[in-house]
Amino acid sequence: MAGIHPELGHSNDVDDMAYTPPMRRIIPIVSLALILVLAAAGSVFAQANPEWTEPFPPFHIAGNLHYVGSKGLANYLVTTPQGNILINSDLEANVPLIEASIEKLGFKFKDTKILLISHAHWDHDAGSAMIKEKTGATYMVMDADVGVVESGGKTDFAYGNDSALLYRSTRVDRVLHDGDEVKLGGAVLVAHLTPGHTKGCTTWAMQVTDRGKTYNVVILGSPNVNPGYKLVDNKAYPEIAEDYERMWRVLKSLPCDIFLGAHGSYFGLEEKYPLMKEGGANPFIDPSGYKKYIAQKEQDFRTELAKQKLAAM
Ligand SMILES: [Zn+2]
Repeated sequence: MAGIHPELGHSNDVDDMAYTPPMRRIIPIVSLALILVLAAAGSVFAQANPEWTEPFPPFHIAGNLHYVGSKGLANYLVTTPQGNILINSDLEANVPLIEASIEKLGFKFKDTKILLISHAHWDHDAGSAMIKEKTGATYMVMDADVGVVESGGKTDFAYGNDSALLYRSTRVDRVLHDGDEVKLGGAVLVAHLTPGHTKGCTTWAMQVTDRGKTYNVVILGSPNVNPGYKLVDNKAYPEIAEDYERMWRVLKSLPCDIFLGAHGSYFGLEEKYPLMKEGGANPFIDPSGYKKYIAQKEQDFRTELAKQKLAAM
């Protein structure tokens, strides 16, 4: 089984089926039906987000930081004279889009030396195996998310049993710990553990200099309590509520000028992008938007926690 789920995985499964004797073809058909049932039941995310694979124009954010993601899944490229750092790998289907975005900005996909992720969920890390193969990048993941990444999603506390959300297991080359720095060619990214959404959810912080000014950048891992998340009596993740509390403390302590995140919807990608004008104010410099967003998400968490505590009484 080696970490790759038999029912998912490779597109050449379709070719294999063409040469399979009729009796043995029943099994894949049953498997396919199972996938569809699971998809309808639990994997609303994977099915209902066409924006995840919808191309978005790549653009320069500030300093050596660039947006190379899709409309729904955010990717960032930090460029340096010694090669580049890519944040998030998304779904495997996104990898060609990421590559095209990088090349369109005049950089080389093959110059990707380091691959990082926001957190170990399929929409941010399923393409990592493919990106490692294509670029030889060193894959660095926060300690508490390493097991999930290396199991291809199977050890995730919430989605590990949902076969539609599993992906190719991927070897991690460097295990990160809270506060670790990732350095390349003068760029320094700090890994802040902001757990809860996943156990190793990571918020990336860095500084960029643009037109003579230095800005603090925050790339939010995820502040969301997903539908179905158990905040009370969670056997697979007993400390989940305390971890969210830790996340709010960390997020409120980070200085933020340029507000970004794992999904464009966190920071208003679609609204802010058209406001980018040569020589004009950068719409992504939005410290008050960051504070407002965190406050709203913390409120949502407290409302959900109170609801679940009441229901458990
Ligand atoms: Zn997630």
